[in-house]
Amino acid sequence: MSDIIHLLPDSVANQIAAGEVIQRPASVLKELVENSIDAGATFIQIVIKDAGRTLIQIVDNGKGMSETDARMAFERHATSKIKNADDLFSLRTMGFRGEALASIAAVAQVELRTRRSEDELGVLVEVAGTRVFKQETVQCDLGTSFQVKNLFFNVPARRRFLKSDNVEKSHIFTEFYRIALVNSNVAFSLFDGEEEIFQLPASNKKVRIENIFGKSAKKKWQQQLLTIETTTNLISITGYVGKPEFAQKSGSQYFFVNGRYMRHPYFHKAVLLAYNQMIQASESPNYFIYFEVDPQTIDINIHPTKTEIKFENEQAIWSILSATIKEALGKFNVVPSIDFDQEGSVDMPIGMPLENVRPPQSNFNPNYNPFGTTSYKRPVLDWEDLYGDFEKKVVPIESSPTWQPNFDSPLITSISSSGQQQVIENIESHTENFQYKNRYILTGIKSGLLMIDQQRAHTRILFDLFLSQIENSRGISQQVLFPEVLELSPDDALFFEQIVPDLQQLGFEFESLENHSFNVKGIPAHVGTSSVIDLLLDMLEKAKTTANDPATSMHETISFSLAESSSLKAGQRLTNEEMSDLIDRLFACANHNFTPDGKKIMTVYTQDELEKRF
Ligand code: ADP
Ligand code: MG
Repeated sequence: MSDIIHLLPDSVANQIAAGEVIQRPASVLKELVENSIDAGATFIQIVIKDAGRTLIQIVDNGKGMSETDARMAFERHATSKIKNADDLFSLRTMGFRGEALASIAAVAQVELRTRRSEDELGVLVEVAGTRVFKQETVQCDLGTSFQVKNLFFNVPARRRFLKSDNVEKSHIFTEFYRIALVNSNVAFSLFDGEEEIFQLPASNKKVRIENIFGKSAKKKWQQQLLTIETTTNLISITGYVGKPEFAQKSGSQYFFVNGRYMRHPYFHKAVLLAYNQMIQASESPNYFIYFEVDPQTIDINIHPTKTEIKFENEQAIWSILSATIKEALGKFNVVPSIDFDQEGSVDMPIGMPLENVRPPQSNFNPNYNPFGTTSYKRPVLDWEDLYGDFEKKVVPIESSPTWQPNFDSPLITSISSSGQQQVIENIESHTENFQYKNRYILTGIKSGLLMIDQQRAHTRILFDLFLSQIENSRGISQQVLFPEVLELSPDDALFFEQIVPDLQQLGFEFESLENHSFNVKGIPAHVGTSSVIDLLLDMLEKAKTTANDPATSMHETISFSLAESSSLKAGQRLTNEEMSDLIDRLFACANHNFTPDGKKIMTVYTQDELEKRF
């Protein structure tokens, strides 16, 4: 039998190799923009069409290429950035593998125009599927322009593997942020078709952060960033960390080393340690941390698409990093004094998933007037059976057809189904609730002392209400007199559009404006809030984090995020009636013991326990 092994043609080998480097439009953007940075560009213009499927164009004012280099650049392992293996350990450039252009040209139609300052004429090269179709001299601007068209035109399987436009665009933004945040001395513009998404002038890093993320007003970037700075002979660390009170479930977290974005779970822990006790376990701080180290002490040569980097002195850097951040937090006097009273929260998440709840069966009392002197009558609910038998006086109430939602009340008011017979109990027999630290409600029950976390209780009540509204009915909408404008970052806007239908079910009304903005024209009657914009931004942030959890439906995610954002907070003073009202509504919920994310809402100190203490 004859020999059967042969070398693959370049076009096939390149296509296979391209799979490693170019996975989606965002990878093309990353590779080309990094090349522009390496070429010393001070202005980079990016245009994408159809989320980068049909066009990704990168134009820079960098040093350009000679005619021969322009042709060579598309060869595999062709690079101007390293010459020998030793150079790998003194890297100062983003690229060095010489694989990107060869890979892109293997799976797309590429048009390159480039000119150096010393040349009168530039050169045009057209390559598709590794074949060079055209090479000629042309008049063109100084610098380099790449047009990458019809990505994966010759690899249908890859093309099908791409996700929706929104997902691909958000990958593109992610790569763009990683480059733009560290190269703030380079001006960028990013267009999605005709629409300008970013116009970032050259600036310092702090201004760049604000220019990129500033639209998310919730994070109030100007106020929240603390500067960090340390230089040792191992490393220099500069950057910004967010004040603890701005920590969120999904913080913006960026590490860079020698101008390159990196992921580093170990150093991430060092940052969290510095915030120890200042933020909740479920939250993470925002940070933008820039390392400069001797390139010999790191190894970035792991994988073309991996962002992990190995450090020689990991442990020492860990300590320096943590200490630097602690110092910054301390200097700005944001470290809270030790106060055990603040630690009183009953924080016992038990990992209970959001569960399907039945629509809340809550009641209201049409006679209730918080300003009047008429005695308030409260409904009897099953919690009495659970926790004790109060003296009861049962009288029927009728539901009022003239019921109007109470827009001002921070507590929700829910609708009773008409004609339903209710029994209520005279509250005067045990009207005393006590609010501890404006945070917990204490009330006596027969078996002991019941203690309720007011914020969690309200979150549960609102969650049940919102979920039933999204799934069953349209919530009551209240028109706002002066519509406010919600301005979002491009990637937040993509996510927001997905959840708009659910928000409309709840009673929100939006009008799409240009530039990722929305006019908020109506809000749900139950959401009494001073700033609806802050509420929506807060809700969006929470929903984005939970949305990745496959165990939670989108309806639950939205109901929960909105409930958390609009619930009354610890620190809010409540009247006795409001406390009773809250307790009643809580016990009307099917699952009144835990918040939708499994946190304990209440605890009972039994009579026995109390007596033992005396
Ligand atoms: P690498 O960046 O790893 O060297 P690439 O395939 O990305 O490999 O690029 C190959 C070469 O093409 C680079 O080494 C560089 O010399 C040249 N090149 C690519 N893009 C540009 C650009 N925008 N401006 C000038 N030269 C470029
Ligand atoms: Mg490169």
